[in-house]
Amino acid sequence: MTSQEKSVRVRLAPSPTGFLHIGTARTALFNWLFARKHKGVFVLRIEDTDRDRSKKEYEQDIFEGLAWLGLTWDEGPIPGAPTYRGSSGPYRQSERGATYKKYLELLLEEKRAYFCYCTKEELEAERQTMLGQGLPPKYGGHCRELRSRPPGKKPEVIRFKTPESRVEFKDVIRGKVEFDASTFGDIVIAKDLESPLYNFAAVVDDYEMRITHVIRGEDHISNTPKQILLQKALNFPDVIYAHLPLILNPDRTKLSKRYNEMSLLEYRKEGYLPAALVNFLALLGWHSEGDQEIFTLKELIREFDIKRVQKAGAAFNLEKLDWLNKEYLKNLSTDEIVDTLIPFLEAKRLGPSREFLSKIVEVERSRMKNLNNFFEIAGFFFALPDYDPLLLVWQKEPASKTKVILKGILEIIDRIKSKTLSRTVLAEALADLAEKEGRGPVFWPLRVAVSGQRASPDPLEIIETLGYEETRRRIETAIKKIDRK
Ligand code: GLU
Repeated sequence: MTSQEKSVRVRLAPSPTGFLHIGTARTALFNWLFARKHKGVFVLRIEDTDRDRSKKEYEQDIFEGLAWLGLTWDEGPIPGAPTYRGSSGPYRQSERGATYKKYLELLLEEKRAYFCYCTKEELEAERQTMLGQGLPPKYGGHCRELRSRPPGKKPEVIRFKTPESRVEFKDVIRGKVEFDASTFGDIVIAKDLESPLYNFAAVVDDYEMRITHVIRGEDHISNTPKQILLQKALNFPDVIYAHLPLILNPDRTKLSKRYNEMSLLEYRKEGYLPAALVNFLALLGWHSEGDQEIFTLKELIREFDIKRVQKAGAAFNLEKLDWLNKEYLKNLSTDEIVDTLIPFLEAKRLGPSREFLSKIVEVERSRMKNLNNFFEIAGFFFALPDYDPLLLVWQKEPASKTKVILKGILEIIDRIKSKTLSRTVLAEALADLAEKEGRGPVFWPLRVAVSGQRASPDPLEIIETLGYEETRRRIETAIKKIDRK
């Protein structure tokens, strides 16, 4: 490792104007991996300069989403506390006003920035004129060289004297990127000395927080030349940029609004495992040298290489997430699945004993896609669903026969009782009856009686899990249902 790599400092700079969505989560992961890989520092900075749109609930969602994925930050806000971790704080832009003001005043003093008195109406008229002449609209620089405030006018904004040069930078993912800054016009960097705008605040903070690499979504690439020009004007050192590819629908259209704005925590609600989601996010634009697709976090840290991130848009494919989730479930021990299920079931107001839950997981784990789906497929263990009595009847058998068989099963079970209600003992005890009446007429009503469903795991496994008392209750319910029919 070179000495430069040792001092890697990256940041995630979300604006709390919306939930932590899939795009920001992917940016967080790539920054986090890069920091971990290079033994660097991962900073979380909350960009809440837009006071009207920034909300504490969004900030909370960002903290919770990152924590759920295990992407802890080395410096940044401490959730629920007024203090910060790290020595470059505060890490909320709303608390950094004095720093921005200092640099705004510096630029104004050096005449690299100026107050602009043009009103919205004047700017709009200028825009229309330029469009009418077939020119791309930009600010014409009316206030650039003013010596004093025009009478009767008030300062509207602060503009940066954007040099009319070409700006070039080397993007780690995209290679050489060039922009013609003469098309920008003098950009607005603040509304007033107390209200800086994004490009300016981000540049100041990246410098003050000693950020070495800016890894962010491609949607920010047009901001980069503006930020580079501001850095140069302020004599700040260069930063290395890496712009991550857009996330697209599988048909390569723009990612649907629903997924683009949905909180990452919705995936938790839907029952995905955080490790599967991290793995899924890692593959949104990156792949390893081989064809490995399943990675633990440790493996990701080892394998991740920002240079291997693709330029082309990354397809967001939920089927892949489902597949990964299933793979992760397969690799978990029953105990681990139970651990993840307990809070999930508690949220659904279910509190089964650990022992009962372990038994259910043993029966259902091969059919399980995610935690939510566990509830769908295993819900009948917790509460017998209501079902049509006719479902109990095997093919064209008369219902009276089904009733006799269920009664026969009940007697057999009564004889064995709880201590020995295992699958093998049951199979043996029911063997004669099944021989005499046929497997269908015996096991079909039994399956329906204990599960309330036509498709379920092996009824003997269900009985072993439910235990004597509950099995008995369910068979009695079935008999009563036939009587009532
Ligand atoms: N606040 C910006 C956003 O949420 C951050 C952009 C950046 O990383 O510079 O998109």
